[in-house]
Amino acid sequence: MNMIANHPPTAELQALDAAHHLHPFTHGGELKQKGARVITRAKGVTLTDSDGNDYLDGMAGLWCVNIGYGRDELAEAASRQMRELPYYNTFFQTTHVPAIALANKLAELAPRDLNHVFFAGSGSEANDTNIRMVRTYWAEKGKPEKNVIISRKNAYHGSSMGSGSLGGMSFMHEQGGLPIPDICHIDQPHWWKEGGDMSPEEFGLERARQLEQKIEELGEDRVAAFIAEPVQGAGGVVIAPSTYWPEIQRICDKYEILLIADEVICGFGRTGSWFGSETLNIRPHIMTIAKGLSSGYAPIGGSIVCDEVAEVINNCEFAHGYTYSGHPMACAVALENLRILEEEGIVDRVASHSAAYLADKWKGLADHPLVGEATTIGMMGSIVLTPDASSRAAFAGDEGDAGLITREHCFQNGLIMRHVGDRMIISPPLIITDAEMDTLVERAWKALDLAH
Ligand code: PLP
Repeated sequence: MNMIANHPPTAELQALDAAHHLHPFTHGGELKQKGARVITRAKGVTLTDSDGNDYLDGMAGLWCVNIGYGRDELAEAASRQMRELPYYNTFFQTTHVPAIALANKLAELAPRDLNHVFFAGSGSEANDTNIRMVRTYWAEKGKPEKNVIISRKNAYHGSSMGSGSLGGMSFMHEQGGLPIPDICHIDQPHWWKEGGDMSPEEFGLERARQLEQKIEELGEDRVAAFIAEPVQGAGGVVIAPSTYWPEIQRICDKYEILLIADEVICGFGRTGSWFGSETLNIRPHIMTIAKGLSSGYAPIGGSIVCDEVAEVINNCEFAHGYTYSGHPMACAVALENLRILEEEGIVDRVASHSAAYLADKWKGLADHPLVGEATTIGMMGSIVLTPDASSRAAFAGDEGDAGLITREHCFQNGLIMRHVGDRMIISPPLIITDAEMDTLVERAWKALDLAH
């Protein structure tokens, strides 16, 4: 029997899933006990489960389905490419049309002289590429000791040993073996949680200057690069105070540190520009991309690299690459996704309308007694869930009430949201309509009421 075309009932699927499928970032015991949600179909912003229930997807999958679900054009692009050339590699002096076309399109869309693309299969792989690329860059320039990469605590840059080391998630490091050598972390610019008595502006400067302190502590000729998400996504949609990025930029320029902007979430319209770096006036040497590049329809990521770094990398044999670097089907799907984002004005609409509409609705949740601050930037945002907003008290434990509200109560109200510590996160498909945003916020409010 083809189980995909003709699947058994939910309880049986859940038992088979628990018996044979190991899930990422999931407690297996809990999964066995409760049974996984089985999602079978999706259209627009709506997911349907194996019992036929509909849910509004407040998270665009994992922050990636920017154009929404069910676009036949992408299925057709995949099918055409699979018939024409399902696979070939881009190693050893070979290339193919989809990789050429996508690299050219990305060079056109990316700001300034970010004109060169190294493809990967995911964001994690792309950040692993970046580790090697910045170290190779400095080694080729005669400075092999300039190899330390500075990142931030609570950052998320992926799950491999390299990208997980760049990330600053302590629970991942505690698994052992991370971080790999010559990667270190400064504090995050999370004013609500860590700002104390400082104004957001003072705090932004204080946190940015930690980069300067770290560079001086290590020695300028040891530091290769600083990596950061323009807006920390999986860390809880942490939007830095306005003083932070200008100061980071000044420090990177002063000490000749390569700046890597991890645009895996912020890229492709999420913040209202094609890249979060444009929204926040950041001038990176390298941008990490994935997720919204194909709207999640095909696994693909990459690094968009500036002329200066690409020139050095092109002057040596960069001993790095993946079987699926520039996979033809994934490139064809990504190209079609970019065409839709561009021709349908989806990024422009975020900037001219949807971001402001979402901000207005979402900020209304701050009137709920269980909500502390409510913030958005573009089409992503968060609320702090707290039993007492005036004292900024946290609910007990990550898996306590905050998790219950976000996972269980939202779900009961037909809404899929994400929970990070004491925050409920939102990052819907960019094509969400005003009426759907109204529904999303209404359902979130009802979910909060269930805990009140
Ligand atoms: N970088 C950022 C900012 C991310 O949010 C993620 C995933 O959530 C990654 C990198 C890793 O991407 P992937 O899961 O495709 O490996």
